Amino acid sequence: MAVDSKRNPEIAALVVGAGSGQRFGRAKAFASWRGEPLIYWAARPFARNTEVERLVLVVRQEDVDPAEEVLRRLGKPGIVAIGGATRSASVRRGLAALPPSVGRVLVHDAARPNVSDSLLARVLAADGACVLPALEVHDALHRVTAGGVDVLDRTGVMRIQTPQLFDRTLLGRLHAEEPEAADDGALAIADGASVQFVPGEEGNLKVTTAQDLAWLDRISGDVRVGHGFDVHRLVPGRRLVVCGVELPSDRGALGHSDADAACHALMDAVLGAASLPDIGYHFPPGDPRYADADSIGLLARVRALAAAAGWVVMHADVTIVLESPRIGPHRDEMRSRLARALDLDVSAVSVKATTAEGLGPLGEGDGIAAWAVATLRAGEPQD
Ligand code: MG
Repeated sequence: MAVDSKRNPEIAALVVGAGSGQRFGRAKAFASWRGEPLIYWAARPFARNTEVERLVLVVRQEDVDPAEEVLRRLGKPGIVAIGGATRSASVRRGLAALPPSVGRVLVHDAARPNVSDSLLARVLAADGACVLPALEVHDALHRVTAGGVDVLDRTGVMRIQTPQLFDRTLLGRLHAEEPEAADDGALAIADGASVQFVPGEEGNLKVTTAQDLAWLDRISGDVRVGHGFDVHRLVPGRRLVVCGVELPSDRGALGHSDADAACHALMDAVLGAASLPDIGYHFPPGDPRYADADSIGLLARVRALAAAAGWVVMHADVTIVLESPRIGPHRDEMRSRLARALDLDVSAVSVKATTAEGLGPLGEGDGIAAWAVATLRAGEPQD
């Protein structure tokens, strides 16, 4: 059916996620990322955009129920359609599910969960019956075959992304003879249709392997800050260990381990950023294994716990409150010990100290207190 997009400009977004995810090891559209299936994130920019009036999620038969649930959470009118054997066949199924009022169609891969609002706005603002987000190629291109290697000229070579925007009549015509193509833009170009390119985005990654999800976590900048605090009483007959460095002092910190308050505060900061239970859970104070333990070694174990949970420490900042001795002469050694335990460059570790100006028990030298902040980024979970 021919529909004039000028008179009938309703825009629908067709999100195609009916592949079996052969290279991914499971149905990719429903692989979980940040607590939601990929197709939720892929469809979300369209659900948020006020110009887009309708969603169509094209999924495998067995994914219809979770797709309905995704639609419900996205809170935009939509339809779930069952995909075909190929991507092109799935696009046709989605097209067939559209009501006649739709004049323009965005086609998007469910495996691209990181479309920015500005990329979508660029695509929608462009003129033309076919709008394609595109990026230049900066790497050298070699075609490697059994017969040898050809070095390709990359001049004018573009990487084409989705969402791609089509006049509905054009898209219907492109698919009329049931062609197969990697994307709909290729069909438009083969057809000789007028094609408008807009700048794509490197962050608009197409997830192909599980590895790509970890990369997406990195580039999408999921960063968390954790905070920790600790205090220990100072008594005669104990060592005073601060950030793994033993300080000259006639009194030391009382505790089950070496009672390194600065290390303990930092451990809790790292655990907090990773949303893991606190230091007392992992290293119970009564546990004989931790009697006189080196807290700097426990800090390294906390880093490993965070890594196992998918968080990489990027930075640490510690503030110590201690009347005496002075921290300054030991500061560089403290920073390098913390950096080693956290697998950081020393430039990413800060140690600061102050006194309590004689106020209260800390000011009277009866204790040491420490506050710490740690910055972690999402990384690849490690065993
Ligand atoms: Mg402590």
